[in-house]
Amino acid sequence: MLYLDVAAASPIDSILTYGAPASLADRLVPGVRLLVPLGRSTVTGYLLGVSPTKPRGEFSVRPVIDIIDDEPLFPASMIGFFKWLADYYHYPIGEIIKSALPAGLTRKGVRTIEVFEEGAGHIKEYADTLPRPPSWIKPLCRPGPVGAEATRAIRKTRKRIETLRQWQDKGWIRLVESVTKDKVREKKEVCVRRTPLPAPEDRLKPSERKTLRLVTELAGRDTAGWVGRRDLNRVYRGASATFNRLADLGLIEICERRVYRDPFGMRPPSYPVPDRLTLEQRRAMDAIVAALDNKKFATFLLHGVTGSGKTEVYLRAAAHCLAQGRSVLTLVPEIALATQLEGNFLDRFGDTVALLHSGLSRGERLDQWLRICRGEARLVIGARSALFAPLSDIGLVIVDEEHDAAYKQEDGFRYHGRDAAVLRASLETAVCVLGSATPSVVSRYHADSGKYTLITMRKRVADRPMPEVEVIDLKKVPTITRHPPLFAPSFVKAIQRTLADGNQALVFLNRRGYANLMLCRDCGTPVQCRRCQISLTLHQQGGRLVCHYCGFELPARTLCAACRSANLVPVGSGTEKVEEELAVKFPDARIARLDRDTAADRKAYMTILHAVRNRDIDILVGTQMITKGHHFPHVTLVGVVWADAGLGLPDFKAGERTFQILTQVFGRAGRGEKKGRVLVQTHFPEHYSITTAREHDYDRLFAEEIRLREKLRYPPFSRLINIRFEGKDNTSVRAAAEQ
Ligand code: ADP
Ligand code: ZN
Ligand code: ZN
Repeated sequence: MLYLDVAAASPIDSILTYGAPASLADRLVPGVRLLVPLGRSTVTGYLLGVSPTKPRGEFSVRPVIDIIDDEPLFPASMIGFFKWLADYYHYPIGEIIKSALPAGLTRKGVRTIEVFEEGAGHIKEYADTLPRPPSWIKPLCRPGPVGAEATRAIRKTRKRIETLRQWQDKGWIRLVESVTKDKVREKKEVCVRRTPLPAPEDRLKPSERKTLRLVTELAGRDTAGWVGRRDLNRVYRGASATFNRLADLGLIEICERRVYRDPFGMRPPSYPVPDRLTLEQRRAMDAIVAALDNKKFATFLLHGVTGSGKTEVYLRAAAHCLAQGRSVLTLVPEIALATQLEGNFLDRFGDTVALLHSGLSRGERLDQWLRICRGEARLVIGARSALFAPLSDIGLVIVDEEHDAAYKQEDGFRYHGRDAAVLRASLETAVCVLGSATPSVVSRYHADSGKYTLITMRKRVADRPMPEVEVIDLKKVPTITRHPPLFAPSFVKAIQRTLADGNQALVFLNRRGYANLMLCRDCGTPVQCRRCQISLTLHQQGGRLVCHYCGFELPARTLCAACRSANLVPVGSGTEKVEEELAVKFPDARIARLDRDTAADRKAYMTILHAVRNRDIDILVGTQMITKGHHFPHVTLVGVVWADAGLGLPDFKAGERTFQILTQVFGRAGRGEKKGRVLVQTHFPEHYSITTAREHDYDRLFAEEIRLREKLRYPPFSRLINIRFEGKDNTSVRAAAEQ
């Protein structure tokens, strides 16, 4: 007998013990899925450990029902990581593993009922004898199957379950227990390969000769010489019809092989490998390489201004680590995918790269996952959840744009991807590199206190200057009508000049949609989300009012919830409105907009970026999406429509965030040979977030933030915990919260 440590895919805090006969030892590899009984149901469990001795304590051990996988879905080295996360974030370990694995791999037991022809009659007779037959009996009065949902409703009480059992004994019904299938599977394809046997040319039909020739020709693409049926048929439609005879003659072998679905699609651009590193890049490399050679856990905070060449440092550090035979995990914010960073990784490391992002289909995600698990891909690049990539023997963990708020998972299993990445690096004794042009205040504080090692790169590559930033005080812009204009005259003039010179402009506003909110002109109430009590944003596209938190929608023509007035006016502006105004001011310019509405998927996103690089666009309007790691050499003007969008938010990070976003936006200017210019419109020209961003003075921003946070006891001088109580009944939720 073997005793198994199992994490059940259920909200249970502890690891459970199950039994299995010793004869199954070979198949009981940690990381495989099991089917286990839990209470009265059957659920998926993840095998975490196997022991020949029973753990201490008085309990009976139930046997495992089935072993699902032939190979583990994650390496044993990740188990400590899962345990740590469960403990730190107070979340059930099985649920953590479930959310880490590709979706569609959770099996569970389902019960259904089969009502026999004769039984249905008996049950109906019985029901008719009752004064008021209960509604649950109804579905059983007809012959045929009763679905899982209905069966669950029927089996609500012990008494009913007992009744069902009796009816089964009488032969009226049958209780069926089955297990759901995986919703995603590996793809298999028929492949053929030439054998060494010489071909008897005269005994072959022309179609067979042609197939043989193609098999030989196409074989070069695969190391083992296999060619897929689909590839062959694409070149010659009659190919697969000849397989059987060619196999009978012993000229080819046929087998079924798994194929990976390609997740890459359009490739993002890359830049040529530079011949030499800059002095600062070399210093950074020396430190990181020394740490890699040391094979101990270490965390670096790579603080390099925009355009200082951090990507090149990541690439060379990754190359060094792969050469050591270890693997590399790279995290980027979701919207920073499909950028040059990804393009360069694919370019330099080719087939050993696996890509994990939210645009993958379930099947593509599973394929990437299995390539990583099997050691076929040793470099992973992905968004937050790639943190759980099943890599073995990680030597290097890179977190690009470590300050980005997108690293925080805000629902389900909540975690901070950057912090968890550092932890994973420590458990793997890997080197961790956190990179940013604007490190989060907390990370920078850790560097000061010695927890991280700080590396700074203060200069842009090729001595390109940092862009000059001019601030426009919106309070001083003259207004002609009651509404202040969206753009100051000097803002408009700057765009004019840029276009006249044949260059491109980026216009940034961190707020999508048309208007920020709809206000009732009669009573002053804003139109709010019915679920979140947050103002809805007007989207002209489609005439909708949308909640940016939960997605709740109303038609744009709605009534005031307070006074039923129809007199609603849009207030505040979003990117749609900016685009509209620019089109009026610059009728000849080619204008595009990049935000979550226009770039809903990876393809749309890449198409717009491609058009900008191709110079098919003169003005690109956008939200944060335009700020991430793009390299546009002909962008000479960056205009910020309203820098204060984030300053009023009730968040202690508002000042830090505003600085970070502005710095990222400014960083898009002057990345080519041409000098860049930046214009910023603001109501608060003296705010430290804006003055420090203007002067590219991170150190002063940091000093200011640290001073404030120490005074107010905000992180890093404290930890914030959000405790939420949710329930359907107001009084009981309140009671629980008060308790
Ligand atoms: P960052 O990520 O720090 O903002 P990037 O990594 O995007 O900066 O680098 C900016 C540009 O500098 C890239 O397009 C790249 O082509 C170029 N570059 C990087 N390193 C070098 C180098 N050592 N020599 C010349 N050009 C370089
Ligand atoms: Zn009203
Ligand atoms: Zn909402």
